Amino acid sequence: METTREYKVVVIGSGPAGCTAALYLSRANLIPVVLEGLQPGGQLTITTDVENYPGFPEGVLGPKLMDLMRQQAERFGAVFRMEQVESVDFRQHPFTIKTDQRTYETAAVIIASGASAQQIGLESERFLQGFGVSYCATCDGFFFKNKEIVVVGGGDSAMEEATFLTKFASKVTVIHRRAELRASKIMQERALNNPKIEFRFNTTVEEVIGSKEGGVTALKLKDLATGEVSDFATQGLFVAIGHTPNTKPYVGQLELDERGYLVQPHHHSTVTNIQGVFGCGDVVDHIYRQAITAAGSGCQAALDCERWLTHERITERWGLASGEEERIDD
Ligand code: NAP
Repeated sequence: METTREYKVVVIGSGPAGCTAALYLSRANLIPVVLEGLQPGGQLTITTDVENYPGFPEGVLGPKLMDLMRQQAERFGAVFRMEQVESVDFRQHPFTIKTDQRTYETAAVIIASGASAQQIGLESERFLQGFGVSYCATCDGFFFKNKEIVVVGGGDSAMEEATFLTKFASKVTVIHRRAELRASKIMQERALNNPKIEFRFNTTVEEVIGSKEGGVTALKLKDLATGEVSDFATQGLFVAIGHTPNTKPYVGQLELDERGYLVQPHHHSTVTNIQGVFGCGDVVDHIYRQAITAAGSGCQAALDCERWLTHERITERWGLASGEEERIDD
């Protein structure tokens, strides 16, 4: 497999954090390669209207916003590659990153690998994924035209998915485990006022019933107030219950918290527990998780990275101008 030292900085992830980091690095003449991962553009590519990203008074479609961010970074030289990180070695410098296509040796790394949709954790849910069980309304909503479907969750994601799905489905039932929704008032009101959306509170999904041939046909629901379990006929299940950080390749390499998020031990710095490795976006943030906060932290990571490279005089010692090529083929 090819080994390259072509890039002084590797950015892992291509959502708002990764794209913004790449933009700032490129404009500082530190042309990075951006390893896009399995979902180029990140979570915004599976959302619809983004109404809270400043600068778009009419709103903007998630995929369009990501396309614009990528174009802006590319304009200054950033290189985007559809590669998936398989393993890393941050124990020695230069750092090593192995992807499904090649090995990178690099002076600095910015991890912006984001987070992925959480699952309820049922065997039957896993079995029927892609056969009526979905985690992305934007991707799969179209397949549920005139069908009755369920959305699980009580946060903003669940309200957004339920509202979006009413464009296709004849009826959407939101199932939430508590009596109150967690979602912001405006998102709640939008869903509560939608005549196609019904709510079942204090209820959990115990089993998904169906087959790969016929799709989902019903759910076994438990009423937490009475303990009663009953079948609820439905033709689809959308799970919108939060996310887990994409940090698998960093286990044993970087400090992670109990939920698997990257730890940033220094106040006012995006550096991880290893100097030269920085984190930004949803992979470090389980509180704000917004496109704008991810973009902001991508900028911070790029500035921290640039300052570290300069301070450690690595830019000079690396011996290559940004983007200049040196390949070591095995
Ligand atoms: P969230 O706010 O963490 O909400 C997750 C929901 O799923 C909660 O209601 C939770 O129930 C429920 N849940 C968690 N695990 C569950 C399980 N195993 N079984 C059943 N229910 C379960 O996650 P989110 O809705 O994805 O939102 C994440 C962040 O993104 C938030 O800050 C949100 O504001 C933001 N966001 C914003 C927008 C927007 O502005 N357009 C859209 C989407 C998301 P409990 O309430 O009981 O904990």
